[in-house]
Amino acid sequence: MAVRKVITWGDPRLKINSADVGEWSPELDQLVADLFETARDEDGVGIAAPQVGININIAVVDSSCGVDPAARIVLINPEIVRQEGSQVGSEGCLSIPGIHEVLERPKQVWVKNRLPDGSWVELEGEDLLARAFCHEVDHLRGRLFVEYFGPVKRQFLQRRYNKQRSRE
Ligand SMILES: [Zn+2]
Repeated sequence: MAVRKVITWGDPRLKINSADVGEWSPELDQLVADLFETARDEDGVGIAAPQVGININIAVVDSSCGVDPAARIVLINPEIVRQEGSQVGSEGCLSIPGIHEVLERPKQVWVKNRLPDGSWVELEGEDLLARAFCHEVDHLRGRLFVEYFGPVKRQFLQRRYNKQRSRE
């Protein structure tokens, strides 16, 4: 397992509609392991393959806090098929470090998800997990969470982000 370099806001690879996974391979097992490792290293709940520069429909969500392996979820060609309710809460992104903003998301979502062997399952997520599923599926469609805001707020965030980066 290795921590991979996370690309950040402004990189064109974050804006691409990623490709579906075809046949599973050992390289994809490696990618999944690396994504979990990278998310943990960065203290993130999840990370999508495009964030390490690979435009393929794979993302991981890890709310296990290192104790519950069942809370480690691999999303493969995921598709949100149903959503219900709404929640308002703070959201951030490993590709936009330092920026956290309140964003409305569905309270509950159902995701059609592929397994490595090619079969399909339906996942259900509520609260934090629903937010994480939406956030990661957005990444696979080339969408960052800041794009939900209007142009004025987005510009404001971009300036704040650039200022922070220039100080690093
Ligand atoms: Zn993100």
